[in-house]
Amino acid sequence: MAQNSKKSLMQAPKGFRDILPSDQKYYEFIKQIAIKHLRFSGFKRIDLPILEYASLFERGVGEETDIVRKEMFLVPRKGNAEEKEDYALRPEGTAGVARAYIEHGMHTKPQPVMLYYVGPFFRYDQPQEGRYREFWQIGAEILGTQKPTADIELMRLAWNIFEDLGITDLSLAINSIGCDHCRGNIKKSLKEYFESMRSKLCPDCIRRLDTNVFRILDCKEPACKEVAMDAPPILDNLCVYCKTHLRKVLEMLDELKIKYDLDPTLARGLDYYTRTVFEIAQVDDRERKLSLAGGGRYDMLVKKLGGRDVPAVGFAFGLDRIVDLLKKKEIEVPDYEKPTVFLIQLGESAKKSCYQTLEKLQNEGIPTQATPFRDSLKAQLRTANRLKVRFTVIIGQKEINDNTAIVRDMKESVQEIIPKAEIVNFLKEKLKK
Ligand code: AMP
Repeated sequence: MAQNSKKSLMQAPKGFRDILPSDQKYYEFIKQIAIKHLRFSGFKRIDLPILEYASLFERGVGEETDIVRKEMFLVPRKGNAEEKEDYALRPEGTAGVARAYIEHGMHTKPQPVMLYYVGPFFRYDQPQEGRYREFWQIGAEILGTQKPTADIELMRLAWNIFEDLGITDLSLAINSIGCDHCRGNIKKSLKEYFESMRSKLCPDCIRRLDTNVFRILDCKEPACKEVAMDAPPILDNLCVYCKTHLRKVLEMLDELKIKYDLDPTLARGLDYYTRTVFEIAQVDDRERKLSLAGGGRYDMLVKKLGGRDVPAVGFAFGLDRIVDLLKKKEIEVPDYEKPTVFLIQLGESAKKSCYQTLEKLQNEGIPTQATPFRDSLKAQLRTANRLKVRFTVIIGQKEINDNTAIVRDMKESVQEIIPKAEIVNFLKEKLKK
């Protein structure tokens, strides 16, 4: 047995966390707002497997990316004859969406296909504040159009979602990293520059000089970062198509009055991106940036995975960092698990008959709770107070005999006796106010 087995029994693995009941309302708040915006804009939900073949990410995201090379949680195959490949816990959602698009023949559906997903993702990174090994993302993808309006639709959506969440101290960084036509020139100029700086690069980046020079742009080593700052801007080597695409995107952002910074160093760390890449970050008082969302175009991914030539664009944002921010900013969020009504029963026969009223109220859509585990009025009132309900409904022996209930308005501290048959309508009327 492993030496630290006792500790392992009592602790989640490093970088993995329980999302406790007290935090659920934050996650729920973000999901509700984001999903509302996505649905209104015509996106349909897709749930992807948490486990995919590792090769999907190796081919899709890129073998030289940090996400695949260093951070992927690999799950070895069991060794059955039908298992030809190892698996990986999904580090991101776009490759899975592109795989699903091909697998389910979505090119036969009206284009573009607009999908969103919600769920946990896994990266074996060094855990720290705002960086976990299991983290939650909501992502949206538009597949089947190369129109710049699709890029804008996603940026606009992300922006509006953040505004609705109450987070407005944001910056939007945008860049274009070229397409198939201009990649050759961009690569050549980057390679020439980084070759001249070879002695300052880390061993990983020296390897990348030959394998994937783009990835030097997002190396986290301070020395490489400094070298990358002076790299020849990608924008200088864009082809006319990419320049036009970028110009249209920027013009539309201007029209929508969404402020952006054209950031020639933004590369976004994944191989599948083409043309537009963008990142939304929160900027604090000390001008420090915390990345909250990122996305971009991936016009070649579907084809690279074996599908047709399907241009696409997507974005994803991380829920955990937003939850931390909502708390830090003390933004009030609704408590979806909080009942409006609490039902108090006194005595054995009231306990039995109160279920009828409880279910009636719940079926009418009035969030009602009761606690059959407590008997005394005092204990039940304490629970009602702790839950901060608007009304308590009290049923004792007398009320059963009279076919009534006492309805107490907890805010106004007044109570009335209401015939049992009228409780639902009475509460509905009161709750309208
Ligand atoms: P990416 O998939 O790397 O473009 O990240 C998109 C967003 O997901 C980021 O802006 C973060 O909000 C979030 N994110 C990425 N990695 C992590 C992580 N390890 N822990 C928490 N959030 C993350």
